[in-house]
Amino acid sequence: MAWADLLQRVFEVDALRCPDCGPRMRVLSAITGPDVARRILDCLRMPSRAPPLAASEPRAEERLEEPSSELDWGSGSARIFSCDLTYDYVKINAEYTT
Ligand SMILES: [Zn+2]
Repeated sequence: MAWADLLQRVFEVDALRCPDCGPRMRVLSAITGPDVARRILDCLRMPSRAPPLAASEPRAEERLEEPSSELDWGSGSARIFSCDLTYDYVKINAEYTT
């Protein structure tokens, strides 16, 4: 599949459609050498290096280590009951009907 068709399929962007007058354009030539592309972009004062990779999101455990200071915890207390989803717990609730 051609690169323009892939862009159309994934991003719904028709990269070969002329934004000014509408008809479909065709590729007359392509620059495949990275050094040549870099020199042309530098000459045009356009970015010629890929942007730095963003840092990955911290894991959930890392985000939950400290309570957020943005929350108003107040002076009250709470007791939280939970379960560990044991086999029997799941079995009882799977058989439950109204
Ligand atoms: Zn045009």
